[in-house]
Parts: sequence; structure tokens; C-alpha cells
Amino acid sequence: MRLINLLPLFLITSILSVEAFSLPIREKPNLIIIITDDQGYGDVGFNGCTDIPTPNIDRIAYEGVKFTDGYVSYPVCGPSRAGLLTGRYQDRFGFTTNPTISPNHPEAGIPLEEENIAEVLTKVGYKNAIIGKWHMGSHPVHHPLNRGFHHFFGFLSGGHSYFPRQYNLNDLSEVKKPFDWYRTKLIHDRERVDVDADYLTDVLSDASVDFIKKCSKNNDPFFLYVAYNAPHNPLQATQKYLDRFSHIENWGRRNYAAMVSAVDDGVGQILQTLTECGLDDNTLVFFLSDNGGASNNSSDNGILRDHKGSLFEGGLRVPFAVRWPSTIPAGTVYTHPIISLDIMATITALAEVEIASERPLDGVNLLPFVTNKNKEAPHDYLFWRDFIRNGMAVRSGDFKLVDERKRDKLGYAVFNLVEDVSEKVNLSKIDLDRNEELLEKHTAWKAQLKSTAFPTLGNHKWWIKEAVEE
Ligand code: CA
Repeated sequence: MRLINLLPLFLITSILSVEAFSLPIREKPNLIIIITDDQGYGDVGFNGCTDIPTPNIDRIAYEGVKFTDGYVSYPVCGPSRAGLLTGRYQDRFGFTTNPTISPNHPEAGIPLEEENIAEVLTKVGYKNAIIGKWHMGSHPVHHPLNRGFHHFFGFLSGGHSYFPRQYNLNDLSEVKKPFDWYRTKLIHDRERVDVDADYLTDVLSDASVDFIKKCSKNNDPFFLYVAYNAPHNPLQATQKYLDRFSHIENWGRRNYAAMVSAVDDGVGQILQTLTECGLDDNTLVFFLSDNGGASNNSSDNGILRDHKGSLFEGGLRVPFAVRWPSTIPAGTVYTHPIISLDIMATITALAEVEIASERPLDGVNLLPFVTNKNKEAPHDYLFWRDFIRNGMAVRSGDFKLVDERKRDKLGYAVFNLVEDVSEKVNLSKIDLDRNEELLEKHTAWKAQLKSTAFPTLGNHKWWIKEAVEE
């Protein structure tokens, strides 16, 4: 101190500058999760797609890690997102199915005592935004701004029309029949707003860019959750994107391709903004789909069996990548199984924020694994349960036990996913020990879970009843 007092001012400034340069640009890395809706495993360039160029999405994989065996925790939108956002198997808190869109059910959403990524990161100074689809409850207690987010621009429902000028309902209270909520006006923070724009996907991309720029300007560490509803039904695209695929004759596939291409443009905008703001080296960007490609949107799960809603690989294994140029070597291909639950564990480790001991995370910090510091597999077991249909699956190493008897006559089936990724050769009768071991593990895990905590989206009788009663 005495020394500094005697030094000329310019020298003090010089010393402080040298010290400042030896520190990270910011204390905490930023997190961006870009999630698409019902996009197939085979519908990105980095997984071999040939008819839909996705150069910007591919950059995330090629400049970082491509996960060949990246999973979500449920093969349908809502529960998958509840798992992603909490880092815990969502059945631990009864989020077993898509929640009702009715705003009259406070129990329909992530329970308030379960902390999501935004709620946790808020404690260490992050600014958090969700742009796009929420789907985590429509009751006011579950509004994103009441669940850790500082900014919301999007919609509460599980799907939406893509043409903003057609939105003509001011609120959910004006919905009279199922799926009319696709036409509700967008929400900006807490206000319904009119949006004069051609295409929802572009609007969401622009809003994401604006948020990054604002955080950069204010020097705030941030979490940006970009939840595109594309390429979920309805298949809708503008001429600008359809014109890119005039060579695709199938109407559905052409529209689907246009929708994915619009997302890819948006991902390009987001990555470009990070570069312009000097944030590339301090920002993790995850990309994944919330479940496998659906049977009704012309998606393509490649060689994987089945689709959205199924516990075969086509429902659960998704396009999955992460980019962090300062830390993760470009061109990394990671083949051990990982799961969307790992994102929460990764960011909370990096941000050095504590997790409540009574609600431990099911995910793990992926950084030691993708940087090859830990050569073990991140998970001994990954589990899935379909409570409504009494379906189950568990993966351990190369093997998977699955029971999809409501869809398939197999009963319990064991597959070697490394030799048989399409799940064609059932080994359960010749590998009885493995069948038994995996079932035992799954049974022990299942005992920790809760049953459904709220009315499901699929049960529309309540909606009609309530609408009539108004
Ligand atoms: Ca979905």
C-alpha cells in the first residue's frame, strides 16, 4: 500500500491493467441453450442430413462437441423441458406428462420448491431470458418472470402458429376450444403485444440477438434460453424459406425443411452476435431438440427406431452439441451417453452455485468428460419412465432394456446399441442376466418417483367444461 502511494499515477494504472488482463474477462461464463421442437436426430448436417443444409447449427458441433448419444429425459415436449430446466428426472416431482394449458391449475408446472437453471443462476448475478416456448405452466405462479427469468418474449403454450399477424386472441381467457391458444398474442415480459412481422421464428431470433447485445453492453453474465417451437406442427413457413427447397417435392418435407432452415439462420445470427460482442470465448452454446422427430411433421430420425412419444431411440436420442471455444477443442466427437439433465449440472459447476442437498441433481458436469480429463462414462445408468403407459427404458454402457409393450409386442427387450442402433435384435432371451440387472436398477430408481401431479394437456374435457361454464 505504501509503495503504491509513492508510485506515479500512470505506473499504478499500468500495474492494475496487467493484473486485470491476467483475470478472466468475466467471472462467470454465459450460457445459451438453443432448443428446437420435434426435430429429428437425422435432421442436422452434423448427423448426416443431406436435404436440409444446417451450416450454422453444424458450427456448434464442429467448433465444439458433437454428442452421438445425446438423450433427453422424456420423448415429449413438456416433461423433457422440465428435466432440462431442473437437471433432475422430472418424474421425481410428478411432471410425467404435458401439463394442461389452463391457467386455473397452480399445480400444473414445476413445483415451486424445485429450482430451475434461471432461479439458481439468479443467485450469482446472472440475467436470464426465455425467448419462445415456455410450456412449464400457465398459472401466474409459473410465469417465467416468477420462475427466475428477468425477460420473457414468447408464449406459454406448447405450440403456436408461426404467422404473428394472425394472432387475434388477447389472452388464454378468450380460448374457447383446444388449440385456439396457438393464436394468442405473444407475451413481452408480462404484457400481450402485437407483432408486425412475417414469421415467428425470425422474431424469436431477433429477440435473442437483442438480449445478448443488451447483456454485453451492461457487462452482465447471462443465461439465454432460446426455445424455438419450430419445427413442431403446424407446418408453416414463409416464401423466403420455402424457395430454398423448391427441389423437394413432398409438401410436408419441404415445409419442414423451410422451418429448420429458418432456425438455422437464427442460430447463425446468435453466433454472429457473440462474435461481434467479443463473447465467443466466454459463452457455452448448447443445441438440442426436446425429443425425437414426430410422426406428423415430416422429420427424419435417420436409422433410429420410432419417433416422438416412444422410448425407443427415435423418441429419446436427439441432435445434441455444445460449443465453448476457449475450453472445448473443436471437432470433438463424444460417444458415451449423456443427457439433457447434464446441462444444469455443467453450468452450476462453472458458475460455482450451490445446489440444495435435499434435491440433488441427476445430471453431471460434462466439462471434465468432453475435455478428456475424465475418461470414464459420465453415467452408469440413464433411466426413463412413461407413467401413463407404464413404459420403461434404461441404458447402461452399450446396452438398453426397454419395455414399450403398449406400442410393441416385444415386452422386455434388450438391445446392444453399439452393434444394433436401430433396435432390431432383441437379446432379452439370450442375455437373461442383463435383462434382470437392468430391470432391478430401474425398479429401484422408479421407487423414488411420483405419480402425475396435474391434469394433462391431452385431456381437453376440462377445457370445454370450463369454457361452457363461463
Ligand atoms: Ca417437442
